[in-house]
Amino acid sequence: MKDINLVIVLKTKMAQGINLAGIGYGTRLALGLASKRNMIPHVSVTNMNSVDPEALYDAGIRVVCSDVDNTWTAPKEALVHHVLEDQFENFKCVFGYKGMILVSNSAGTIDDKGYTRAEELEQTLGLRVLRHGKGDGRWKKPANLKRLWSMFQSYSGDQMAMLGDRILTDVVWGNRLDMLTIHSALLTEEGDNPTAAKIRKKEFPQMVELYRKGVRAPYHPANVDGICTENLLEEELKRHTFK
Ligand SMILES: [Mg+2]
Repeated sequence: MKDINLVIVLKTKMAQGINLAGIGYGTRLALGLASKRNMIPHVSVTNMNSVDPEALYDAGIRVVCSDVDNTWTAPKEALVHHVLEDQFENFKCVFGYKGMILVSNSAGTIDDKGYTRAEELEQTLGLRVLRHGKGDGRWKKPANLKRLWSMFQSYSGDQMAMLGDRILTDVVWGNRLDMLTIHSALLTEEGDNPTAAKIRKKEFPQMVELYRKGVRAPYHPANVDGICTENLLEEELKRHTFK
């Protein structure tokens, strides 16, 4: 009976949004069974205004995968945050409808009943939201999502970038799939998911500490000068060095 109850509790938790892939990968990292390099983004910026989409294209990026909440919008909002409105249009101009896709751990997942938020975002932002479809089950970033590769069969990670504000989901996911990873600091605390906020407070200092110890993101050919106007990780390193 206990086992049955456990299954029911687990299934309920999963339906409520638990991220098994995130928990699994976090555990493997803690046990030293996964590469800590995957926790380090190629560049960390204040927000997407510090990224040059044309320079990304010139460096060989053809597909931009992007998180939504706290990367372009305030959490749970359907409109681009006012400080990023122009930049969002710049990205769309450079990469186009077919060269950008929104990959969220809420919209388009099993938590998004009837995909209502995915559809709302597609209407307001004018981009596709990845549906975590058949074969992906309940998996979320940082799990490999098969639907993505069925949509971008002719591309490799060398030609793709991942933009996002979370380390254990966005950055790890992009690095595991050989993409260029650009991490954004928190856009706004308003409406932030409490669990995400708690994990963020732990994962960001961990990332900085690893960077100070010399851990770097996996090699990516598009990680060249000029793709971003700043790198917060390098600034942290200098602050530490000159203390
Ligand atoms: Mg986010």
